Amino acid sequence: MNIVLMGLPGAGKGTQAERITEAFRIPHISTGDMFRAAVKEGTEMGLEAKKFMDEGQLVPDRVTIGIVRERLGKDDCDEGFMLDGFPRTVPQAEALDEILEEMGRNLDHVVYIEVGEEELLKRLTGRRICRNCGATYHVVFAPSKEEGICDKCGGSLYQRDDDKEETVKKRLAVNMEKTQALVDYYQKKDVLRVINGEQSIDHVTESILAHLRGTAT
Ligand SMILES: [Zn+2]
Repeated sequence: MNIVLMGLPGAGKGTQAERITEAFRIPHISTGDMFRAAVKEGTEMGLEAKKFMDEGQLVPDRVTIGIVRERLGKDDCDEGFMLDGFPRTVPQAEALDEILEEMGRNLDHVVYIEVGEEELLKRLTGRRICRNCGATYHVVFAPSKEEGICDKCGGSLYQRDDDKEETVKKRLAVNMEKTQALVDYYQKKDVLRVINGEQSIDHVTESILAHLRGTAT
């Protein structure tokens, strides 16, 4: 089973990725891991990528795609794979189609875990950190007993600039635009399934697995 998993930051993709790859015994290929492995193993594309990264530059698509090609050619992908974090753009999606075609394979499923902007903002802006001991809380999911006060040491809690609504909103907007283009691309190819990511974590898993197993109603 060849799968691409999509979801905006805060959609809960990490947990679901683990559960899906466990259920189908296929490798979880995240972009970060794939890059680190290619650089460490010193593959042709890994070495190329390293040059750009060492100079603090963005790794060009050509190299990223080369790394994906190398990775998907490994034995552990014989029974399938789940890509996470790639493709990120339509040109990358087109390149993935080409790679798979060369390999005589195709993409079986694209799963998009959808969470509305309001809920994403709630999830992504709720983190609070203790100034004194560094303990972290979340105003919705892991609140301190007393608002703004650390349970462990009584220190005051603050919100990192990175977690402020304005910053998060900007980051999300860029991501949303790219994601929407990909959603449209895969919708046209009739491989996309949108999963409601605002259910409980277990329900999200159930919905995804039912779809992938072909038992969804
Ligand atoms: Zn504290």
